Amino acid sequence: MIRVQSPSSSAALLLFAVTSGRLTGTLPRPGRRACCAGMTENANPFREIDLLSLPRPALKALFQAAGQPAFRAEQLFRWLHVRLERDWTRMTDLPAGLRAQLAEARTLAVLTATLERVSALDASQKIVLLTDAGHAIETVIMPMDSGHVTQCLSSQVGCKMACDFCATARLPVRQDLTAGQIVEQVAYACRLGFALGLRRGGVAGGEDGPLSARPHNLVFMGMGEPLDNLQAVSDALDILCDAKGFDFSPRRITVSTSGLAKNVAKLAAAHPNVNLAWSLTATTDEVRDRLMPVNKGVPIRRMVDVLLALPPSPHRKITFEYALLKGVNDTDDDALRLAEMARELNAHVNAIPFNAWPGADYQRPERLVIQRFVDVARRAGASITLRESKGQDIGAACGQLAGEKAA
Ligand code: SAH
Repeated sequence: MIRVQSPSSSAALLLFAVTSGRLTGTLPRPGRRACCAGMTENANPFREIDLLSLPRPALKALFQAAGQPAFRAEQLFRWLHVRLERDWTRMTDLPAGLRAQLAEARTLAVLTATLERVSALDASQKIVLLTDAGHAIETVIMPMDSGHVTQCLSSQVGCKMACDFCATARLPVRQDLTAGQIVEQVAYACRLGFALGLRRGGVAGGEDGPLSARPHNLVFMGMGEPLDNLQAVSDALDILCDAKGFDFSPRRITVSTSGLAKNVAKLAAAHPNVNLAWSLTATTDEVRDRLMPVNKGVPIRRMVDVLLALPPSPHRKITFEYALLKGVNDTDDDALRLAEMARELNAHVNAIPFNAWPGADYQRPERLVIQRFVDVARRAGASITLRESKGQDIGAACGQLAGEKAA
């Protein structure tokens, strides 16, 4: 777990106190009573703490500070992140008094599904979920040709990066998701798959439960910039990769960034085996400045150097995402420069023809131009795949996620 920002929520504050001791004097005294009846507001040490967002070590530290044995935290973690239970009354091996205290502290319902759409083209499925503040985010479950399922996760409501070709950037609302809200998207996909009988197996400790229907791969390529919400994304990765939680291999997870260089190294230090995708999308600073304002702060060369300077990891893969925009970034020279950069970083390139959305100023290149671009890059030594985004007919493709509202 990393602590990269000053803690803002009360959960983070309490944790900060637990881990640093700085605020120890302000810690609420752990209640010793077995039941919450008659308790004053301050007596509940779990009050307002977002338990679903806490990685296991933090949950244990919290329980310890609350005068509870560590194994209770382990039990709760298993209910939350293996059995995916959100109803306190069903957590039957926790003492009734503790359950009442936890139930009184805060709800576990952090996202509500409002809409599900299934693509007639490729059976991918988009789920629109509402945060407690009523904002819509989207996650997409995609059956791949390999037979595996990849889930695309959102990390924020809206996005600050203002990429000119992306629908998410046009949303007026911006809000970071919590780690719990990120994890809950995966929990939702697991429950859905389990209900449909889609057991995929291979999960330690989850064979009979919803984790047996876990997606194979997770990509942080939905709404938002994951590295602009680093703490929550990092905590979510801790929970998702915990062998006593969702038990994902980090090698099956990819975090995609527009290029927030300062946080790339922090993420890589905390999660060395998680794959990184960089949305390169242009091969000159002149064009990239126009398409992606982040480039003005972190030009292409600087980001390449940051990626080159990452401590080596035997497992981390780096990919470039390259949205192909007609007449903007689709020339032979672009393909050659792209190939050179990909070779320098030993990166694989995913070329993604632009996906249209209402009001977009861009188009996808003609089919022959797309094929030529890929061929030129490949002949110049790039490992490159042409990726047709899934779910284009349901507004679920790359760049189309805009928090659709249920009718
Ligand atoms: N903010 C992160 C995560 C979003 S990922 C990032 O920028 O990497 C979404 C991916 O879809 C990015 O690679 C982005 O460049 C690409 N994309 C955005 N809009 C698109 C569109 N309309 N068509 C195709 N790809 C698009």
